[in-house]
Formats: sequence, C-alpha cells, structure tokens
Amino acid sequence: MVRFIRKGYLKLKCKECHKSHSIEGRDLVFDPYGKTEKDNGIERKYLSVTDFFCSCDTKIKCEILVTEFPEGTISDISYDARNAEITDKCNISILSI
Ligand SMILES: [Zn+2]
Repeated sequence: MVRFIRKGYLKLKCKECHKSHSIEGRDLVFDPYGKTEKDNGIERKYLSVTDFFCSCDTKIKCEILVTEFPEGTISDISYDARNAEITDKCNISILSI
C-alpha cells in the first residue's frame, strides 16, 4: 500500500472562457488502476480523476495517471485534461508504508 504526498496546486485554464481553476494537490484522490507483473517486480498504476463545471458551464476533466515501478518509486506521471489547459502541475511523490 502506498500513499502519495501531493504538494502545491494543479492549475487548469478553461479552454472556453480562459478562467483559471486551482485544485489543491492534497485534495486529489488516487485509486488503484491495475497492476502488471514484470520480471523484476510489480508495476502499479494509480489514477486520479477530477471533474467539475467551469462558471461558463464547460465540463472540465483532468486525469492524472501515476505509474509506480519498481515498488516505492514513481516512474511516470501523465496528465490529461479535457476542455482545459494545464498551466501548473502539483508535485507528487510517494510515501511507502
Ligand atoms: Zn470556462
């Protein structure tokens, strides 16, 4: 089981009205998103999905996919946003228990 330390803010800019939205990193929730057995360990993925409506009624969605490999190490973080541009990424690190 791992926990992520999230620092800073994730900032999204609406593509329609260009309004900026800030999401506090610690409010992001990561859920297990599958695992793959590899020769030298298990690769695990975690997904955080955030969606909300901008004041202009555009639905904004942001997905953050974290890959943990080997255990206790983040090997990749990918961001994907719909209807928004990511202007700032929060800092994500791993805390092993
Ligand atoms: Zn908007």
